[in-house]
Amino acid sequence: MATMATETKPAAASSGAISRSGNGTPSRWGLGDGAAIPWEYAPAPESRDVVTLKETYGLFIGGREIPSSDGETFVSVNPATEEPLAKIARGTAADMDKAVRTARRAFQRSWGKLPGRERAKYLFRIARILQERSREFAVLESMDSGKPIKESRDVDVPLAAAHFWYYAGWADKLDYAFPGRVARPLGVAAQIIPWNFPLLMLAWKIAPALAAGNTVVLKPASTTPLSALLFADVCRQADLPPGVVNIVPGPGEIGMALITNPGVDKVAFTGSTEIGRKIFKGVAGSDKALTLELGGKAANIVFDDAPLDQAVEGIVNGIYFNQGEVCCAGSRLLAQESIVEPLIEKLKDRLATIRVGDPLDKNTDVGAINSKAQLEKITELVAAGRAEGAEMYQPACDLPDRGYFFRPTLFTNVAQSHRIAREEIFGPVLSVLTFRTPDEAIEKANNTAYGLSAGVWTDKGSRILSMVRRLKAGVVWANTFNRFDPTSPFGGYKESGFGREGGMHGLHAYVRLEDR
Ligand code: NDP
Repeated sequence: MATMATETKPAAASSGAISRSGNGTPSRWGLGDGAAIPWEYAPAPESRDVVTLKETYGLFIGGREIPSSDGETFVSVNPATEEPLAKIARGTAADMDKAVRTARRAFQRSWGKLPGRERAKYLFRIARILQERSREFAVLESMDSGKPIKESRDVDVPLAAAHFWYYAGWADKLDYAFPGRVARPLGVAAQIIPWNFPLLMLAWKIAPALAAGNTVVLKPASTTPLSALLFADVCRQADLPPGVVNIVPGPGEIGMALITNPGVDKVAFTGSTEIGRKIFKGVAGSDKALTLELGGKAANIVFDDAPLDQAVEGIVNGIYFNQGEVCCAGSRLLAQESIVEPLIEKLKDRLATIRVGDPLDKNTDVGAINSKAQLEKITELVAAGRAEGAEMYQPACDLPDRGYFFRPTLFTNVAQSHRIAREEIFGPVLSVLTFRTPDEAIEKANNTAYGLSAGVWTDKGSRILSMVRRLKAGVVWANTFNRFDPTSPFGGYKESGFGREGGMHGLHAYVRLEDR
């Protein structure tokens, strides 16, 4: 609901235009009678009542919640308020070993022997429960991660359920997915996920693994373990046989203990390229299957024939969605030189309307940065951008007094050598570069160690096709950005990793194909 107040209309503001108010929140000016009617959004917080937080959460091993072997716990903090949310059992290497042995037993005794149509029933059940409990998941996810409720409610949770629906459909159709071959499960899958899409990354990993007949040990990120532990409850509610899914939160080291455990057959990791390299070394020399989904520094390329207003929406979605904490974020805008000025002008106007604040407020566009450490990393890289000579623009907006918040940021005058053009910032920071010809755009877009995603904005279909062929990126969006679908494979080239998640390709990563 909007609150209204009467004010004098400034000369510059035309009817229906959007202007910046003192605290950076937008005011829309009334039409018709000459009287200016600016209005602002009233707070619209989602109720926390739908979530019942436990004081302490255990490890989920063998269908039961148990304390860690040394009894230690850690605290998960709400990044928007800095308040502790709950204590979590801190898994150890011994707990990981226990979880892997439990998953192995479940694979041998129950899950690995179940026909696909029976496995499908459990996956369908999980999908349905996720939908039934979607509000609870959305609120918990926003509290634990800092992401805006409108994203957890409309993107993360529905997409997580969609992955279970989708892979449930494949569980009894593996013969059709891999015609002429016999698809066998690999065994125990070790899965390590990051903090930017906690529930969604869990679904990307667990759904295809279970559909193909594998069992799972999953380690969530230390700053966002709660939705995974709520998912443990979903597994119990769905009567999933004990040990098929095991969830062990704890520090990074236990992730290494997990992937090097000899009882593991398959490793799937999503996170930073730095840790991805360690995982790669940890798995090298073994016969474990491996997929790595790592960082990115995507180019979002806007040609002079693109519809600029739509492109602006795509650019904003590309870099400010989930506070820019997205591996495939369009963090480098490549704008054709002839339109760079109007494009930046439109972008600045649009930035002024972005609402930064309480993640649980339904009107919030940019929530809290996931952790203090991540906020420090963003702050450091932005300072480096200024020191190296790029020009910074941030809309005027008040940030909450507590919590880890960062203003949407735009850098112009960026050179390819600048750190902000090369390094994954993982925050709401856009670096603008320019190009003259398609060749130059390709050269600049591909001039990165990463190769996860890219975007192309143009009116010409032929240009889209020619750019897509030459861009070294696993996913290329045309006249849109950050679109995800369970049927579509996702993954990278170069330092963005290898292997694909999603679609039939995602299923392939969890099976061994044999001749008939
Ligand atoms: P990490 O890569 O460190 O974390 C990802 C996951 O790996 C977490 O579950 C983490 O556990 C775990 N992990 C950490 N160390 C090890 C290890 N030695 N062996 C096995 N598993 C390990 O990312 P961060 O959370 O530290 O973020 C750092 C940077 O990485 C970000 O600033 C961002 O640039 C990038 N990043 C990229 C992501 C992507 O999807 N491309 C996702 C997340 C981060 P724990 O949480 O306990 O440390």
